[in-house]
Amino acid sequence: MMDAPPIVKQPATRDAANMPDYSEMRAGFSWDDARAKISGLGDGHLNIAHEAIDRHVAAGHGEQVALRWIAKSGEITDFTYADLQAQTNRFANVLRARGIGKGERVYSLLGRVPELYIAALGTIKAGAVFCPLFSAFGPEPILSRMEIGSASAVVTSARLYKRKLKGIRDNLPELRDVFLIDAQTDDTVELAALMEAAPETFDTEPMDPEDMALLHFTSGTTGKPKGVVHVHEAVVAHNMTGQIALDLHPGDVYWCTADPGWVTGTSYGIIAPLTNRATMIIDEAEFDVERWYSTLEREEVRVWYTAPTAIRMLMKAGSEAAKAHKFPHLRFMASVGEPLNPEAVVWGNETFGMPFHDNWWQTETGGIMIANYASMDVKPGSMGKPLPGIDAGIVEVTETGARELTEPLAMGELALRPGWPSMMRAYLHEQARYDKCFKDGWYLSGDLAMRDADGYFWFVGRSNDLIKSAGHLIGPFEVESALMEHDAVAEVGVIGVPDETSGEIVKAYVALKPGHEASEDLKLELMGHARKKLGPAVAPKEIAFRANLPKTRSGKIMRRLLKARELGLPEGDISTLESDEQ
Ligand code: ATP
Ligand code: MG
Repeated sequence: MMDAPPIVKQPATRDAANMPDYSEMRAGFSWDDARAKISGLGDGHLNIAHEAIDRHVAAGHGEQVALRWIAKSGEITDFTYADLQAQTNRFANVLRARGIGKGERVYSLLGRVPELYIAALGTIKAGAVFCPLFSAFGPEPILSRMEIGSASAVVTSARLYKRKLKGIRDNLPELRDVFLIDAQTDDTVELAALMEAAPETFDTEPMDPEDMALLHFTSGTTGKPKGVVHVHEAVVAHNMTGQIALDLHPGDVYWCTADPGWVTGTSYGIIAPLTNRATMIIDEAEFDVERWYSTLEREEVRVWYTAPTAIRMLMKAGSEAAKAHKFPHLRFMASVGEPLNPEAVVWGNETFGMPFHDNWWQTETGGIMIANYASMDVKPGSMGKPLPGIDAGIVEVTETGARELTEPLAMGELALRPGWPSMMRAYLHEQARYDKCFKDGWYLSGDLAMRDADGYFWFVGRSNDLIKSAGHLIGPFEVESALMEHDAVAEVGVIGVPDETSGEIVKAYVALKPGHEASEDLKLELMGHARKKLGPAVAPKEIAFRANLPKTRSGKIMRRLLKARELGLPEGDISTLESDEQ
């Protein structure tokens, strides 16, 4: 392992964290206790939307702001818990009236507008299944995802309908209703009019814990996206991990920057904050350095959940931009979705006076599995430790089985013992693929990692991205992090390129910070820097400069695409690719 930056100590005020002591809580934890914190609907029934909204209103918190929406224009609209209750009740009534029943799939194709959140929770309330689609998808990815989930209805806008849905509608015979939030055409339904006519009360559908609630498509980083099934019981994990991994307290102003088109944007952009009675900030606009800092400051955000790509863009803009603002209310910052380079943790600590807390999970796990906690010192570059109730291991997978590797720093596949509430219940229509995820009592994540002697987990790379060079196994993350430490570097993606002598050689694609020019000299300097940090066997042998790296729309570097392009191979499924300049 690369020589790591020093441990970031948590301030003594962390005693006020929901989990003051990791080991103690882990030892005493049971999922039954976590289940008892959910109010449920009697007879073993429950509903995510009840936990997110109705129970808070019943407990007298109806006047608290649940959702503060910042429109692209900057205009602010507040929805209290009582407002959300009324709106989601109306939406659920609309679904009922249109004959959309329990278990049917209701999709959304919307930007981050209030209707998206109302549709999500209203759908779940009515016992139907919610499936969010990212609004920037083109018609093809929309069609394939709606086919896989047999969409009965979709909520969208007139503009998105015309541009992306109208043309594929004939291929979707099961799609009965297209609800438009802002208009009506001959072949669509005007949602606003129906909502207004619908009653404001609704008896939330009592669901079996194992009933399907959400259908989520994976990010497509490694291949064709999979449709992941989550059930109502997942709310037990959303609620618990919101408290423990994000340290959410009732009344906290909370900002999750992820779009609900990805699992982070629903598990932690809708469900966990609401079940924990936070006030959520929703910004309709895309990333912008100044807008983000102003939002953090003006809204007095206390808990902030974002992603490495965004953090790297903030770093690229320089600390001065942050230091022009004050964030006295900010208490906890977390990151997910990609490996968080140690450099970013150190930068966070210098710039905000607290580290970014990296955590790890997947669409399949439904909720955070490994995390850095408010009360636990942070080793920059580590994903932290497994949540209470989660058993994680490093395993060696062979043809015959999976064997746990217990020696510190052994590298293997990151695996989890199944049984937590938000675990996926299926890859929709892909039973064989689902079955392949399990071996010898482990769920295999497809990621490679190590565990150190203190029990901290370290991400190495996707198992497909591992580089085998001259007898060494090299994880791209380690190389990327070393290059990130160089002042000129804004972003890096590392791949293995076939080579006759070494098997593979390490190649790095580098995007530079403003004010730095690509040159042969800089290339040599970066190689020298990497060799010093990593040693000659691991340091990149080739470096190429790029203005931007190919990324998924959820912000993950697509190393498989760097590789396909390098080798002149087909690009495969690129439905989630954000347009990139090559
Ligand atoms: P697909 O499965 O379609 O290829 P994906 O795996 O990127 O796409 P997601 O479920 O959105 O889809 O992402 C989960 C993956 O993201 C993890 O398996 C891991 O590779 C990566 N990831 C998430 N959090 C972290 C983290 N903190 N550190 C390193 N990697 C992370
Ligand atoms: Mg995946």
